[in-house]
Amino acid sequence: MRLVIIGGGILGTAHAFAAIGRGHEVVQLEREPEARGATVRNFGLVWVSGRAPGELALTLRSRQLWEEIGGRVPGIGFRPAGSMTLVRTPAELAVAEATVSGPSASTRGFELLAPDEVRTINPALRGTFLAGLHCSTDAVVESRQALPALRGYMTASGRYTFHASTEARTVTDTGSGATVLDEHGRHFDADLVVVCPGAAHGGLTRELAGALPVRRVRLQMMQTAPLGETLSTAIADGDTFRYYPGYAGPELDRLDADQSQSATAARHRMQLLCVQRLGGGLTLGDTHEYEEPFAFDVDESPYEHLVGVTEELLGHRLPQVIRRWAGVYSQSVDPTAISTRVQADDHVWVVTGPGGRGMTLGPILGEETADLLNL
Ligand SMILES: Cc1cc2nc3c(=O)[nH]c(=O)nc-3n(C[C@H](O)[C@H](O)[C@H](O)COP(=O)(O)OP(=O)(O)OC[C@H]3O[C@@H](n4cnc5c(N)ncnc54)[C@H](O)[C@@H]3O)c2cc1C
Repeated sequence: MRLVIIGGGILGTAHAFAAIGRGHEVVQLEREPEARGATVRNFGLVWVSGRAPGELALTLRSRQLWEEIGGRVPGIGFRPAGSMTLVRTPAELAVAEATVSGPSASTRGFELLAPDEVRTINPALRGTFLAGLHCSTDAVVESRQALPALRGYMTASGRYTFHASTEARTVTDTGSGATVLDEHGRHFDADLVVVCPGAAHGGLTRELAGALPVRRVRLQMMQTAPLGETLSTAIADGDTFRYYPGYAGPELDRLDADQSQSATAARHRMQLLCVQRLGGGLTLGDTHEYEEPFAFDVDESPYEHLVGVTEELLGHRLPQVIRRWAGVYSQSVDPTAISTRVQADDHVWVVTGPGGRGMTLGPILGEETADLLNL
């Protein structure tokens, strides 16, 4: 079959990858010269730790797919680095203790470590904390390298073409397939069209699928100069417990009630996540903003908070911050939905809305759609 995939982020690329893997021909269209949406702005975390119990099996399958893809496409920079969530208060420690005695603790590879044990695994963590919740199944990919690396691999199949600077304007079902008209007046005929527009919920997406049950969420991020040593795991602070459904329980209710989150973190709905890039710099974030119109500039106070918390955990000054940016993702408003996958016409599908887990789940969402469409 011939597929046209609209959108060059991880969802579009993972859908292309699944279709190519099943022997089909794919044309992928991206409106920018290079994808510059949520995918290239994220941490690259393949995050198992805090996923809801109902999503765990799917998440682990996606992580497995990332690992397999990493074997074939080293350029994505897959590392089974694991993560360390560092707890700093008794209420956070109680959540971590409940987590390691929970039913899925061994499946997720959780263990609770004393500070000296934390430093055995991640010697860069020389700062102040009560304990570390180690998750051995969390992993990392290089967000800014993954898309071109995957495209290079698919191009070698001889069945894949990527058109950059190509906005899809209309998609018309022809009865036996569909045709896409781009901004340059070119037509692309397909047996199936899959639209993965990210947070572009208006325009073509709305014309095809109406008002989807999704919202947009904006996050602030930054990156430092090289750390000068290895940060062997991703790190997180106890605020992450507040945002991931996998930690739900009475201990988390008590943490939420104790008002210990800093005023800045509470105002900007912050958590600390930190990943070392292959080049040695640290990607740090994040904030969560839900109400539009979003700010067009970045706010400095969340960055001061992130620097303070990270320096407390590392026990020394961070290298200079060299980049700051914001990103927007598309999130399904149905908390039980993992993404929003809509059949817009007989041969046209729209897939978006994976929220803050789209990088993690990209490969499995591509495979799921391929199964659904009998590719
Ligand atoms: C700051 C930040 C940090 C995150 N961290 C993580 C993380 O660590 N782990 C994780 O699992 N998830 C993370 N996420 C979520 C994850 O990045 C997203 O869920 C995921 O990247 C969404 O991929 P996508 O392909 O749907 O969207 P995008 O990456 O936004 O790609 C959509 C693409 O479609 C293109 N497009 C839209 N309309 C058209 C059109 N008409 N024609 C042609 N092209 C079109 C756009 O230009 C864009 O390039 C994070 C998100 C953000 C913003």
